[in-house]
Amino acid sequence: MKLPVCWSCGETFRWKELLFVVEGRKTCRNCGAKQYTTTHSKWRAGVLVLPVIYIPWITRLIFDVSFVVQLTLGVLLLVICSAIVPFYYQFTDKQQPLFK
Ligand SMILES: [Zn+2]
Repeated sequence: MKLPVCWSCGETFRWKELLFVVEGRKTCRNCGAKQYTTTHSKWRAGVLVLPVIYIPWITRLIFDVSFVVQLTLGVLLLVICSAIVPFYYQFTDKQQPLFK
């Protein structure tokens, strides 16, 4: 897995820089160019986040675990997801709509 690069200068982003990408926007620390996540990468990141919502819920339905276990599982999955999501981003110079 590779971290995304700046569309303008090709500088690779740091993993911790990408933990919080607000509304799919980011600025390059090297050249200052504005970065927008591509529609494709938004969908990929979205698909990755879905299990955080439904896995704890399904686990509770099937295994009858307590709410604390469900919550712990949710937090754990969220941490794992946040760690992986930066690798799924791709940046472009123009903002792209979620639906084309
Ligand atoms: Zn740059």
